[in-house]
Amino acid sequence: MKRRDFIKRSILLSAGLSAAYCGTKGGEKIKIVILGFDGANWPTIDPLIKEGKLPFLKKFRAESAWANFETIKPTKSNVVWSCIASGKTMLKHGILDFAYLKRNGIKIPYTKSDRREPMIWQILDDYNKRSAVFNWWCSHPPDKIKGVMASDHMRRIAASRPEKHPNFANAVFPEAYFEKFKELALTNNDYLQAVQKTGLPDFDGLFKKLYPGSDIRKAPVIKSYKSFVRHDAYIEAISRYFLENKEFDFFATYFRFPDVIQHFITLFLDKEYKENLKKHLIGRTLTPEMNDEAILKIAHLMEPVYRYMEKILKEFIEIERKKNKNTYFFIMSDHGFSLFHGGYNHYGLPKSMKAPDGFLLINGPKIRPGQIKKAGVYDIAPTILNLFDLPVGKNMDGRVISEIFQFQRKKRYKTYKLGKMNENKRDKNYDEETLKDLKSLGYID
Ligand SMILES: [Zn+2]
Repeated sequence: MKRRDFIKRSILLSAGLSAAYCGTKGGEKIKIVILGFDGANWPTIDPLIKEGKLPFLKKFRAESAWANFETIKPTKSNVVWSCIASGKTMLKHGILDFAYLKRNGIKIPYTKSDRREPMIWQILDDYNKRSAVFNWWCSHPPDKIKGVMASDHMRRIAASRPEKHPNFANAVFPEAYFEKFKELALTNNDYLQAVQKTGLPDFDGLFKKLYPGSDIRKAPVIKSYKSFVRHDAYIEAISRYFLENKEFDFFATYFRFPDVIQHFITLFLDKEYKENLKKHLIGRTLTPEMNDEAILKIAHLMEPVYRYMEKILKEFIEIERKKNKNTYFFIMSDHGFSLFHGGYNHYGLPKSMKAPDGFLLINGPKIRPGQIKKAGVYDIAPTILNLFDLPVGKNMDGRVISEIFQFQRKKRYKTYKLGKMNENKRDKNYDEETLKDLKSLGYID
């Protein structure tokens, strides 16, 4: 190589490097935090923002890039969250449904051993990035990454008796964290305390008051509300502990309460109004105005629920911002909800209806605020890899949402394979509990 060419190339190289770092201040390393809230959606959040009920969220959105987050059909949470973490379609990542039948007729849930593509934390692990992942769908047993992982089995410790706690040791990796996570289960295992701490309504008590003749044990979804609340209060506690005390490059945690609660929220509409709405839904005579009115009423019932979401957002963002100025926050859900003849739901919709959008907020240094025209569940993994200045997966189905960057990032591509990263061990106990869980939500028979 001629000397002049060498210098030219060196200049280009260093220009590339500085371009890669101009999204950061003072040379601090980039960190990424994902906060997932299943089922949260703008149509039920917007009215509350307008009424001044969610002041932090209002301010945070004004400072963020945000979108109506496009999702896929079938709009099943485990399928969609796997799309988000892999950047790939379900046919590629392998999580196709909630459960399947084995040849002998036994139902088993789709889980980690069915994954065929690496999840983002596995890709980052190859680049020696330290990830902390809590409660992600289909993540049990946890991946043996360099960081820490508590699988979606771990939360159940909060609704289990202390003598059962040792059974959850295999839901954390590395196991050294188990002692601390077990300790946090003891302070998050009381329903009424959890209700008080989170600010979530005592829907269990409210149901019993409103429907004195009904047996709550036979009422879909709400029958398990007491467990759901403890689960999410617990996930908040272990996530917060980690955020406050430990180091990471990539952090992701997932909460289920906005979805679970919306699955039964219409029970709390005024009785007469509800009967009338039901009539119009079944008769398919609901007008757009009636739809908007019903969504507004649902939004008002959801106010304490979104206040809890806002509290987590505010506190987690503050904790992290104090530690690092260069953290990028990705806040999202996997879908919203729609009113149709089947009720208020996110799946089972008629073919003519689009899967209901979720919500998305991206916030961090030099992120251009404002609405993103088009963003969907496949775009998160590519955007995160590009932010870390790492190659995007060649066969990922999304794109880097680069129009929100007020800096240059070169795009590179690489094929990532699952290879030896996945473990195929199944945990019978986890499978059974997951089936019970899916049944209580009405997701499987
Ligand atoms: Zn969901």
